[in-house]
This record gives sequence, structure tokens and C-alpha cells, in this order.
Amino acid sequence: MSRIYLSPPDVRTTDAESVSRAIEGGWIAPLGPEVDAFEEELAAVTGRRFGVALSSGTAALHLALLINGLGLGDRVLVSTLTFSATINAIRYVGAQPVFIDSEIQTWNIDTDLLEEALEDGEYAACLPVDIYGQCADYARIVPLCADRGVPLIEDAAEALGATQDGRPAGSFGGIATLSFNGNKIITTSGGGALVTDSPAWADRARFLATQARDPAPHYQHSEIGYNYRMSNLLAALGRSQLADLDRRVEARRRHNAAYRAALADLPGVEFMPEAPNSRSTFWLTCLTIDPDEAGTDRESVRLHLETLDIESRPVWKPMHLQPVFANCQIYGGEVSARLFANGLCLPSGSSLSTSDRDRVIEAARSVFPGT
Ligand SMILES: *Cc1c(COP(=O)(O)O)cnc(C)c1O
Repeated sequence: MSRIYLSPPDVRTTDAESVSRAIEGGWIAPLGPEVDAFEEELAAVTGRRFGVALSSGTAALHLALLINGLGLGDRVLVSTLTFSATINAIRYVGAQPVFIDSEIQTWNIDTDLLEEALEDGEYAACLPVDIYGQCADYARIVPLCADRGVPLIEDAAEALGATQDGRPAGSFGGIATLSFNGNKIITTSGGGALVTDSPAWADRARFLATQARDPAPHYQHSEIGYNYRMSNLLAALGRSQLADLDRRVEARRRHNAAYRAALADLPGVEFMPEAPNSRSTFWLTCLTIDPDEAGTDRESVRLHLETLDIESRPVWKPMHLQPVFANCQIYGGEVSARLFANGLCLPSGSSLSTSDRDRVIEAARSVFPGT
């Protein structure tokens, strides 16, 4: 039996063919027609006018902050329950994160605490994360930010293919960012994108991402730029992956439904909830194990799975508990701390077979006393 991974890349022969065609087309040098087409397709899927394909989701976040004019000392409201990339980008521009706890209903940014923070001070941006593939509560967040003139950026790295009130993930805020890292919903091995409705911002993103070259026949520069563009070959991979998006989301959602059906009866086990107006990608299926009720705990389950060559992970360690961000301001913090203490992410990749999923279920159940 081979190892079961948390969320491995799902790459097929159609993907290899797509990359081969791009190589044969001769567009190896970074930009080319595959990039242009991938950008149009990304914009269409996220309900936007423009997409800009980039080297990573982190690069997309960095550019989104730069485009919104963020710099030294600016303060950014951001979910504490996220991957470090979100906060690293804030630090790249010299800004300061102000962390907001999760709400227990969705694990996403707590909108009451967000409102409280907005009343307390001045912020240069608000950066909610669509955690584990579920959109944050934009029906509330969009007006909260708009009323105070705070730019909104959506970190949709885990949520490509999700919807809220029928609107696609990536459609919220002035700019939304996506990731195509190997473990995400679609992959270009490494890559990302930003999407926006603003032609000026899309142009600005492309300019900054290609070393900020002024329009001149010689190499002339009036600003610091970056080398953040996606290559034509990887865009070809992205296009065939994106054409398969619906199947990928369906597969992850099926895993979630199967895990719920097989494990929800266990004492002390609760799954990450899905809001009624929300259709999550369930990028990862996550549950919490209350040790007082379960007679076991998260670490016992995780370590047992590991002995059977099954990879699982604790829920993200919140950023306010990370040594590197220990001095940053936080509103609340206990909900996400508890999710981290008790939360487990199960193998959820779109290539996970039903027999491997059954292996995970059986292994997890066996740790609970009396099963
Ligand atoms: C993966 C991820 C990123 C970073 O994307 P990369 O492409 O790996 O740079 C940012 N935010 C969240 C929430 C992520 O999960």
C-alpha cells in the first residue's frame, strides 16, 4: 500500500499533452499566447474583467498590496487563521498586520470583531482569507470596508471554484488573489494570479511583475520592479487544469461528504461548517476532536494515521501564535487557537481514490474508544 498524501498534485496525460503542445509551439521564452489565454479564462471563471498570471499566490498578494498603495507603517486587517504567505506579503511592503480571530460558524474572519477593529482605527487594507475553500462573509465585509473607504483584497488561494450567494470566489474586493501551488485546487506546479475589474490595476500588475520597464526601446526604469510573471509553459499546464476545475471541486466535495457520513457520529467530532449561502471547494476536509468528549485527541489520531502511512495535518497554526508575529495586534484569538489545538485536516486531493479514502476512515475510527 502506498502513502496517502494530504493534497497531492493531480496531473494527468491531458496536462502533459497541453505542455507538449506549448513546447512545440515554440513559445518557451517567458510570455506567450498560453499566458494571455489563461488570464482570460481565469477572469471568466472568477467573474472578473482581467486576470494576471504570476509566479505564485504570494507574489499576487504582494502586488495586490503594492497596487493599493500600501507601504511602511500602514495597518492591514487580516484573518489570523491562514497560511503565513498572507502575512509575509503584508510585511514585504513594510505594513503591519492587525489580526482578526475566526468566527466559529465558518472558521473565517469574525465580522463582529472586524467591525470593532474598523471603529477603533485607520486601516490601509482589509485582507480576508477564504479558509479551506469557503468564502468569507462578503455580504457583510464588502459594505463594512466600503463605508470606511478601506480597500478590500480577497485571498482566494484555497477557494478557486467556490461560490457565495452564487458569486464565484475571486469576485470580491478590488483585487482577489489565487494560488496554483502543487497542493491547491488546480496547479501549475508553482504559480498564482490576481484578478480584478480595473484595467489600470491589471496593467500596473503586469508592469510591476516584469521589472517595471518604462515604455522605451532601451531598458529604462523609474521604479523598482519584480520578476513575478508566469511562464508560457506553466500557463499551458494551468489551462488544462482549469478546464478540469469542476471535476476537481466535485471530487473534494465528495470526499467531504463521505468523511462526514462515516465519522460525524463519533463523540466529540465536528466538521468545519459550510454556511447555507456558501458552496465551498472543501480544499481540505477539516474536523475538530474535543478530547473531553472523544476519549482521544487530535494528535493521537494524526500520529496513528502516520503509522499507517497516511498524511494528515493540524489545522493552520494561527498567525498571532507564530513566534515571528508575536508582537502584532490581535482582536480575539481564542476561537482560532482552539481550532488549531483540536483541528485535523484529512487527505482531500482530487485524485484520492475511494479505497484510499476508506483506509483513512477506518484508521481514524479505530483510534476512538469503543469503535
Ligand atoms: C497557498 C496559499 C497562499 C500562497 O500561495 P503560493 O502560491 O504558495 O505562494 C496564500 N494564501 C493562502 C491562504 C494559501 O493557502
